[in-house]
Amino acid sequence: MKVNVKCKSCGSDKFQIPPRPNNNSKVTCGKCGAVETYGNIMKAVGDKVTEDLKREFGKLFK
Ligand SMILES: [Zn+2]
Repeated sequence: MKVNVKCKSCGSDKFQIPPRPNNNSKVTCGKCGAVETYGNIMKAVGDKVTEDLKREFGKLFK
């Protein structure tokens, strides 16, 4: 499964992520320079994955 994280400001999926990020690490958008914390991004990814899984399972059981 491919997970796309998009910048809230510009929609870019290119981020500068520290080599060993923790939840408080700053992640910078490679395009517009918006700063987000790694924890927030991972939470967004988690929510997205959950949504996608629900959708996939929904298809299976229709
Ligand atoms: Zn951006």
